[in-house]
Amino acid sequence: MSETQKVWKPTEEAKSQATQFRLFAVLLWLGAIVAQIFAIRFFLQAVNSGESPVNAWVIGLIVLDLVLVFAGSFLWKKSNRLNPPSEQNKFLFYMQSQLGVVLAFVAFLPLIIFILTNKKVDGKSKAILGSIAGVALLIAGIGGADFNPASVEKYTEETNMVEALTGANSVYYTKGGGKYHLYEDCYTIKNSERLNGTVAEAHAGVANHSDFDLCEICKKKKMKEDGIDAETLNEKVKQMNEKATAPANESVETLETEETQKDAA
Ligand SMILES: [Zn+2]
Repeated sequence: MSETQKVWKPTEEAKSQATQFRLFAVLLWLGAIVAQIFAIRFFLQAVNSGESPVNAWVIGLIVLDLVLVFAGSFLWKKSNRLNPPSEQNKFLFYMQSQLGVVLAFVAFLPLIIFILTNKKVDGKSKAILGSIAGVALLIAGIGGADFNPASVEKYTEETNMVEALTGANSVYYTKGGGKYHLYEDCYTIKNSERLNGTVAEAHAGVANHSDFDLCEICKKKKMKEDGIDAETLNEKVKQMNEKATAPANESVETLETEETQKDAA
């Protein structure tokens, strides 16, 4: 059982916070889709009554759509930092990490198709509205993409790195900082209020930072102090990573066997 605990787990607080963020993200995304539906309605209404579809309502709703998708994706990415997906299933991992990109298409592509395929609309209006919606899709897509996605495996490796260096899962960090540290007196955090906790707690404490990881200055200092070179260290971490994933599967098998036995009895 102690072996399986080597696989990274979010704190209970981080988990419930992540769930909350996901819920809000979904609500914002739903709002974006509603905004798009209204944009399409106002667009068709203008076209069918012979007016120009390039009007404040349509453009305003496209902007609203963008703001809502963007805010939803921001919260979604934040939730993934708090409670990241596993990389074991690559498809599910990418779907969860990059769901904001998918939503960007969902929130703008139908509208773009409506604009571009409508035969009653003149070329100029098509070009203007198509460009506005196209740029909105692009911004939402880039904003929704996670260029440095968190995963259970990545966090496990980070924890193993800290344990390989210090022998304990304990780091120092500040609420506003972009790194966690091995030394409480690291000069980059000397003047801030320092917190102490596990790597998981550090990640939960500063969910805003997309590249929140181990301070290189602390890492190099520790390696120098202990006389450990990069190769030996990486090998040690690699072995810990392998240990962290292998017994977890075994324990699942044991559980299944136990349940089968219970069923049989
Ligand atoms: Zn440091």
